[in-house]
Amino acid sequence: MIIKELAGLKDGSNISNLFGWVDNVRDHGGLTFIDLRDFDSTIQLVFDKESSIKVGVKNEFYIMVSGVFSKRDESLVNNKTSYGQYEIVINSLEIVNESKTLPFQIEDNIDTDESIRLKYRYLDLRRNEMKNNIVARSKTFKSIRNIMNKLDVLEIDTPTLIKSTPEGAKDFLVPSRKSPGSFYALPQSPQMYKQLFMMSGFPNYYQIAKCYRDEDSRKDRQPEFTQLDIEFSNGNPAVVKNNIEIIVKHIFDEAFDIKIDTPFNTMTYEESISLYGTDKPDLRIKETISDISALFQNTDIKFIKDTLEKSGKVLSLHTKDTLSRKNIDSLDDSVKLIGSNGLGWFKIDNKEITGPLAKFLNPEEKSELSLFGDGLIVFQAGELNEIPKYMDLLRREIFSSNNDSMISFTWVEDFPYFETEDGILQPSHHPFTAPKNPDDFEINPKDSTALHYDLVLNGVELGSGSQRINDPQVQKLVLEKWGLTKEDIDERFGWFIEALSYGTPQHAGFAIGIDRLVAEILKQPSIRDVIPFPKTQSGMDPLTDAPSLINENDLAEYNLRYIEDEQ
Ligand code: ASP
Repeated sequence: MIIKELAGLKDGSNISNLFGWVDNVRDHGGLTFIDLRDFDSTIQLVFDKESSIKVGVKNEFYIMVSGVFSKRDESLVNNKTSYGQYEIVINSLEIVNESKTLPFQIEDNIDTDESIRLKYRYLDLRRNEMKNNIVARSKTFKSIRNIMNKLDVLEIDTPTLIKSTPEGAKDFLVPSRKSPGSFYALPQSPQMYKQLFMMSGFPNYYQIAKCYRDEDSRKDRQPEFTQLDIEFSNGNPAVVKNNIEIIVKHIFDEAFDIKIDTPFNTMTYEESISLYGTDKPDLRIKETISDISALFQNTDIKFIKDTLEKSGKVLSLHTKDTLSRKNIDSLDDSVKLIGSNGLGWFKIDNKEITGPLAKFLNPEEKSELSLFGDGLIVFQAGELNEIPKYMDLLRREIFSSNNDSMISFTWVEDFPYFETEDGILQPSHHPFTAPKNPDDFEINPKDSTALHYDLVLNGVELGSGSQRINDPQVQKLVLEKWGLTKEDIDERFGWFIEALSYGTPQHAGFAIGIDRLVAEILKQPSIRDVIPFPKTQSGMDPLTDAPSLINENDLAEYNLRYIEDEQ
């Protein structure tokens, strides 16, 4: 009998064969108390030391007991637990399995290093906090399946030993034993396969898919993660966005009992960058960035003058709170850490402007700045491809405490087709995304826009999608403009371009990061807290020690061998 089944039992009922873990043991005079815990409940056991029960048990022993379900004495009722009014006076106790001394206590708010928790993840998952997270994850899967069935979307799986699918990361590779020297890639996403389904004539597709991306340890990413992957034939951005809103609303409601409003807000990439400094705006914060370049037209402040002459801008945020000097210094440190030369600021108090640069302001600048009203203006002067990210950080740091409990969704769309990452041109989504205007794209790919849309929740990118290219010529063109040679295109994507060439319907889709969604709703500090067996930041699994070295003989079977590091 599991503890949950005790509900409804009458005082004095006999219970036999109740299983559970010893949550703790307390000796009080002649009586011994044990809290017996199973997956979802706890009940107190009590027995007299003089009774025939003589077994010594310790925390996390798995035991089986029999006894009498009894109402506790009025003065001993514990209203904090579901069975706080009852206890079981036991007449037999059998140890099913002992436990070694624990590496940490099975309780909430432990202060144990994460690597130890991950090494003993099976014990970590016994803790309520973690258990609840994993149950919430499971409910999320269930609610996804329910709504997808309701929407009549087909659940179809795709292979995981594949040829590379580019999503902007490096591949995890799997050597083939049967074709020495050849490798499979693990999917960065099921992107090309879900498009093949559309080419095959399926009306739609979804999958709760594992994706693998070998990225340099970016904050709170996992090499292996789970996404809800979706595609609609004859789809376009409007169809996809509408369906995603229905799906997300349903998950919030069914799995988390949270009601959200749809349709979500929509803004363009350009609006997002200019108002929020980022393409992942946190709309719980109402304050937006202002371009105050015009105010400094005749400025005597040298670095601002130089910036404006080089077509740079001055972007600012105004807060009514007059921050302390210590807070201002800490904002200065934060922006410097990500590359800024430092924080510019003015304090306004009853039209009086102070701050390190105040003495260089001319009268017009002073009077225009004072129009912002009392408080603090922080600003950054520089190039438009640099300073928005500093403003984003400042906005989040200055106003972070605002509206913490709200849920705020927004779509961001009309992304530039390409972005430059570390000097290399990359599609801002992936190279299967349709350019908004293929003719413009051909002439000026760097300035062209993609039919790509992101969904952002509270400043976190929850998912991305796009309308796809369904014309093989356009697909070739995009790969060329990305910088691939003809040989590369043939070798890597020839089969896909061929597949596009037999009457491919228009199609569009999306993917939602499930780990991120659950972590965000549960307000967990990291996605690792909602993944049963995550890897560390450096991609290790402390539990199994993966990845691990392979011995020379096993490697030889794959026609591989270690080579000396030449450094
Ligand atoms: N394959 C994309 C991704 O994993 C999602 C999509 O475009 O549907 O981000």
